[in-house]
Amino acid sequence: MNYPKSFTDLVECFKRLPGIGGKSAERLAYHVLSMDKEYVQEFANVLSHFQDNIHYCKKCGHICEGELCEICKDETRDQSVICVVESPKDVFAMEKVREYHGLYHVLHGTISMIDGKTIDDLNINSLFERLDGVKEVIIATNPTREGETTALFLAKLLAKKGIETSRIANGLPIGSNIDYADELTLLKSLEGRKKI
Ligand SMILES: [Zn+2]
Repeated sequence: MNYPKSFTDLVECFKRLPGIGGKSAERLAYHVLSMDKEYVQEFANVLSHFQDNIHYCKKCGHICEGELCEICKDETRDQSVICVVESPKDVFAMEKVREYHGLYHVLHGTISMIDGKTIDDLNINSLFERLDGVKEVIIATNPTREGETTALFLAKLLAKKGIETSRIANGLPIGSNIDYADELTLLKSLEGRKKI
């Protein structure tokens, strides 16, 4: 006997989420069955509102609700330093450090042989468009093979434009992600950055 179509439609939607397999998707669908109507409506509204209102900042690629993110709009931040990270999650991680007052640029990924991603697939053109007045670019991609490859490639491109580039220090464990690092480790890594 098959599930009713409305049920399988919801299961299929859940299955498209990362880390959710068939069994988990079914479990979630059963859970929705037990939820009260107001909550299901609120959930649907929040999802729809999220989709309509969350964008990537036109300048740096971080997430925001308007054209520009809070960091790009903040004129008190040091406009001469840009910290390049892989994802918006890393911006939130770096902000926890509190010692960094410059700007960010989010690449939305890394160069990856396995996934066939090249430098052209990253949010990189908008970085080159905002280098006026920038004295230093700190590359804070994750200490993974892909993160290191991306850092080297980016440093070469920036060197051609005469921009001083530094890489966060190796205080972070190899293969780890910046958004999992604690504040002290990140602070040390930032302070110990080296020119590349
Ligand atoms: Zn921004």
